[in-house]
Amino acid sequence: MRASVTRCPECGWEIDPEDEMCPNCGAYLADYEDVEPSEG
Ligand SMILES: [Zn+2]
Repeated sequence: MRASVTRCPECGWEIDPEDEMCPNCGAYLADYEDVEPSEG
């Protein structure tokens, strides 16, 4: 089982850690790198 898997924040597609763009929807991970779940 892999511990660190990068998933597209847009479509949830599994992306290689060396990839910086989602091959499924084409979303740039750099744009979401700073995104974090906020409660409240
Ligand atoms: Zn995507």
